[in-house]
Amino acid sequence: MLLYRGGNLRPLFESAVLLNRVERRENFFFSDYTTYHLGGRAKAAYFPSNLVEAKTVYDYLKKSGENFFILANGSNLLASDSGYDGAVLCTKKLKGVVRVDADTLFVLSGTSAGSLLRYCECNGLGGLEYLAGIPATIGGIACMNGGAGGRYISSNIISVRLYNGKDFVLSNKNCNFTYKHSTMRDINALICGVFLSVFPDSPQNIKAQVGRYLSKREFHPKGYSCGCVFKNPSGMSAGAVIESCRLSGYGSERAFVSPKHCNFIINNGATAGEVKALIDSVKRKVFNCLGIVLEEEVILLGDF
Ligand SMILES: Cc1cc2nc3c(=O)[nH]c(=O)nc-3n(C[C@H](O)[C@H](O)[C@H](O)COP(=O)(O)OP(=O)(O)OC[C@H]3O[C@@H](n4cnc5c(N)ncnc54)[C@H](O)[C@@H]3O)c2cc1C
Repeated sequence: MLLYRGGNLRPLFESAVLLNRVERRENFFFSDYTTYHLGGRAKAAYFPSNLVEAKTVYDYLKKSGENFFILANGSNLLASDSGYDGAVLCTKKLKGVVRVDADTLFVLSGTSAGSLLRYCECNGLGGLEYLAGIPATIGGIACMNGGAGGRYISSNIISVRLYNGKDFVLSNKNCNFTYKHSTMRDINALICGVFLSVFPDSPQNIKAQVGRYLSKREFHPKGYSCGCVFKNPSGMSAGAVIESCRLSGYGSERAFVSPKHCNFIINNGATAGEVKALIDSVKRKVFNCLGIVLEEEVILLGDF
């Protein structure tokens, strides 16, 4: 029998066993996991179902030296047709909400905005209704500082719990939230969960407010998209800017600027390359027309 004398193998063995338990898909196409329904293949994808598994996958990918991308609901992502030369750590199964005290929740990063709001309504906790209808996870919304109706999640975030080989916490201040940006976008750490402030409110009131936010979305374009493609230039709406350059409906039948909301580019059977070409063309035309440089809100992944 061979005896290894170099050190304690138990942690290595345990993490290998744990990694084996994590759902792994070899045949992962971004087109199946993004709201744009576009994008090619990744080398592999992992779907951890709890934080211990997620950290094990993170450690494994980090040590392997392989590129990896943390994917949540893919609602702000345009992945290349040629896919991604790396692995995917998908957070969608990291779901759960814990009431910490009367006005604080801890929300696991893969929890959807919709299920968080159902929890809030059942438990009479208000303050997050503006998230209604955003087709995203709380981790994704925190990373992007998402929101609606002039409110952003940064106004509810107390702190964010992260992992990059070690557990650490960023206070709201240290997240450096700005418009559609946070420190989390730059550090490739896993957002494990978010502490959010809420306040007691009646379920009826919460339901009514959620309904009001949802009804505003009835006028949003239908079809495959990533929501708003561009950030709003300072003091202006990107959609109105694009419309004023007469680009409503611009593009082809396969990929076009939505006449309902010009900041949406709809995929109607296009490739990711066609959508990217249209994004570039809209940027050029807006610059030539008004001298305004539009900046993408959508995240581009892979080679274009
Ligand atoms: C129809 C439609 C309507 C939309 N309306 C709105 C709106 O009203 N307001 C708004 O702000 N946005 C809106 N969006 C855009 C999108 O929903 C947001 O940008 C959202 O924040 C993306 O969240 P996600 O869970 O889909 O994240 P993904 O798109 O999967 O990822 C977004 C970014 O977050 C990172 N990320 C996600 N989770 C983690 C994690 N756990 N740890 C580390 N990094 C992570 C990813 O790496 C990526 O960089 C809309 C999109 C669509 C399709």
